[in-house]
Amino acid sequence: MTPSTDKWCLITGAGTGIGTAIAYELAAAGFSLVLTARNNIASAQNLSSELQASGTKCRVLQLDITQREQTRQTLENDINEHGAYYGVICNAGIADDAPFPAMSETQWDRVLHTDLDGLYNVLQPCVMPMIQTRRGGRIITISSVSGVMGNRGQVNYSAAKAGIIGATKALALELAKRKITVNCVAPGLIDTAMTADLPIPDEVIKAIPLRRKGTAKEVAATVAFLMSEGAAYITRQVINVNGGLI
Ligand code: NDP
Repeated sequence: MTPSTDKWCLITGAGTGIGTAIAYELAAAGFSLVLTARNNIASAQNLSSELQASGTKCRVLQLDITQREQTRQTLENDINEHGAYYGVICNAGIADDAPFPAMSETQWDRVLHTDLDGLYNVLQPCVMPMIQTRRGGRIITISSVSGVMGNRGQVNYSAAKAGIIGATKALALELAKRKITVNCVAPGLIDTAMTADLPIPDEVIKAIPLRRKGTAKEVAATVAFLMSEGAAYITRQVINVNGGLI
């Protein structure tokens, strides 16, 4: 473990899948963690207890990132009490797929509100306190291959995840002089609850050069690298973790 002199990182959606894997990787790298969850709060609390037992400083916040005022209040209170975060990992997100002619307003709004508005709702209260620490920092967003290439049946999700890439690049420009790097990780097909119920025909796996789904740990390892000192000269980038799809 590399000691990280009390660098606290906020991970949204840490109670499941990729968020949980990120928590394990960052704990192993010596970071202190603020885990957020919406429905899976018990999983986040169990994870927090497990990580604390092995020496990681950890606390849990319940956050529905679509609730702008509540999210701001919760994060501002946490920052006021404990200090600014060194890193923020915007991992929480949903998909709600349908062919576009059949896509309801609710499906469009739900995905855009969660995946894109949620990014604003989480980052906006965090950024100024990060700047004020004057010690730099890391912001990592989680997009998707769907946002990079577009994917049929996911016009809403592709739009939101492409929006995340634009926001990441613009914010990287704004924060570069503050030594806060802002990068995006764009996973391909990853083995988590989000993809567990999807019918995945053999052709889809065959189209992936590495011929398999990725693991949450493989995405988390990339996030951990971007969080590290070694990644200090990387900003405004989209890192694809997709088995060679693009
Ligand atoms: P999961 O469904 O396991 O995780 C999604 C997480 O987002 C959950 O922890 C959930 O929290 C949280 N979340 C959803 N809506 C909200 C909300 N309104 N407020 C707060 N938290 C919310 O899937 P993954 O781990 O696979 O997904 C993690 C990220 O990776 C997502 O952004 C997803 O789009 C992205 N991704 C995943 C890919 C894959 O193939 N799995 C591919 C490309 C990108 P809770 O359960 O507590 O409600």
